[in-house]
Amino acid sequence: MKPDALDRLRGTLLGEVLGPQDAGYGTARRVYNAMIDKRPAVIAKCLGNADVVRAVRFAREEDLLIAVRGGGHSIAGHGTCDDGIVIDLSLMRGVHVDPVRRTVRVQGGALLGDVDRETQLHGLAIPTGQMSDTGMAGLTLNGGVGMMLHKYGLTCDNLLSADMVTVDGELVTASADSRPELFWALRGGGGNFGVVTSFEFQAHPVGPMMLAGFLAHPVERAGEVLEFLRDFTATSPAHLSADAMFLRAPEADFVPEEYQGMPLVTLLVRYFGPMEEAWQAVQPLRDFGDPLYDSVGPMPLVAVQSMQDGFSPPGNLHYWTSEFVPCIGAEQIAAIAEIGSELPSRISIINVHPFDKAATDVPPDDTAFAHRTDSWLIHVIGQWQDEADSERCRAWVKEAGALLRRFGLGNTYLNTTSEDGETDRVRAFWDERRLARLAKVKAEYDPDNVLRFNHNIPPATNESAS
Ligand SMILES: Cc1cc2nc3c(=O)[nH]c(=O)nc-3n(C[C@H](O)[C@H](O)[C@H](O)COP(=O)(O)OP(=O)(O)OC[C@H]3O[C@@H](n4cnc5c(N)ncnc54)[C@H](O)[C@@H]3O)c2cc1C
Repeated sequence: MKPDALDRLRGTLLGEVLGPQDAGYGTARRVYNAMIDKRPAVIAKCLGNADVVRAVRFAREEDLLIAVRGGGHSIAGHGTCDDGIVIDLSLMRGVHVDPVRRTVRVQGGALLGDVDRETQLHGLAIPTGQMSDTGMAGLTLNGGVGMMLHKYGLTCDNLLSADMVTVDGELVTASADSRPELFWALRGGGGNFGVVTSFEFQAHPVGPMMLAGFLAHPVERAGEVLEFLRDFTATSPAHLSADAMFLRAPEADFVPEEYQGMPLVTLLVRYFGPMEEAWQAVQPLRDFGDPLYDSVGPMPLVAVQSMQDGFSPPGNLHYWTSEFVPCIGAEQIAAIAEIGSELPSRISIINVHPFDKAATDVPPDDTAFAHRTDSWLIHVIGQWQDEADSERCRAWVKEAGALLRRFGLGNTYLNTTSEDGETDRVRAFWDERRLARLAKVKAEYDPDNVLRFNHNIPPATNESAS
């Protein structure tokens, strides 16, 4: 970089520009996963589309690679880089709801909790993920899996349009009518194509109150619990979401003291619909197997959407993998129960989500998100606090992943995958035909692969296109 470069950038942005010598750089360079320790040359905290355009142009003039940060939650650490520029959208968290059209405009740095706060004022919601401090941008661009997927699909299925700054510093809009190929790619192709400064979503009438909670069973009963969950969700309504979660009971208010720290398999239950209907719909789950504790009760949607926040506060060390498994028969259940009983740390988690109904009703070619088959999505979440445990915990995640892969469909959910050394698996998510289509879009919008800190899609070359 030229010696006066940072000052030049400072002079053109409304937001903040931080270099390694600046106070605040140490905090600003940190991302959610403490395993990631990168030192960018510049962090540009943008305040509006014009700032993003200027930061991108600056990066090109200075020949810097660009990492884009929305909420900073990427487990693979894609929201930062060494030596390049981080375009940080954390000052761009605005959310604007149009209650008449039931649409929501969300800036590129907004968190899931920001969206729920605003949409719930109007009794509306967008299907998103399960922890309120995750970024909307990264989550949406690679899919977006949460409690409403059975009814309203993935987050990306509810995207109506996106404003994006290209690597040439041009502001474009992608929607079904404008740049449809880019719009297709943004719904599952990740952060490969440009910096999305805002998203427009379709919202749905949900909340403000819901029925939700945990039903906890001892981990020794994992086999029965998973069998029950499988059979129950085969016919459960789309308004009901039930997942299984292996964890050690947290020290939370809703967990009786005698169970705190105990290895559990819990059913996480959520119903959005009229309350009388809700109690009836969740009753079979509550009746099953005499749970150790049952925290199911009415609560505001915003509380439901943040009820797991305490399980994974920022600053812990993480290594994750995930697998789509077509069915959970006896063999798969035994494997999941085995790994779920051997969590390597007090705060590691396994999630078992049914992936079906609205999420798989979308025709596979409608979006770049590649997986549209009824299946089970299993997240293996290695999480710990002491660096001395890193090798052991990572090894456990890798082993658990390898075991699940024996039953898998060959693809992982990219948003919940650490990725190191797994380039083939990243590519496998998008089958060859889809990858070729994405590579063409990449070649049109980022032919030099300036945006490569993501689940990367190399641009098509003349050779690969022929
Ligand atoms: C605690 C926790 C809970 C989670 N829960 C869920 C869940 O319930 N459901 C689910 O589906 N996923 C979940 N995830 C995974 C999450 O979706 C991904 O980590 C996602 O990348 C987070 O987005 P972010 O904006 O916070 O990430 P960042 O680290 O900011 O960005 C990750 C990558 O996304 C791209 N990106 C981010 N912002 C932009 C932008 N504005 N324009 C272009 N590209 C951009 C870039 O490629 C960037 O490198 C969870 C992750 C964590 C850590």
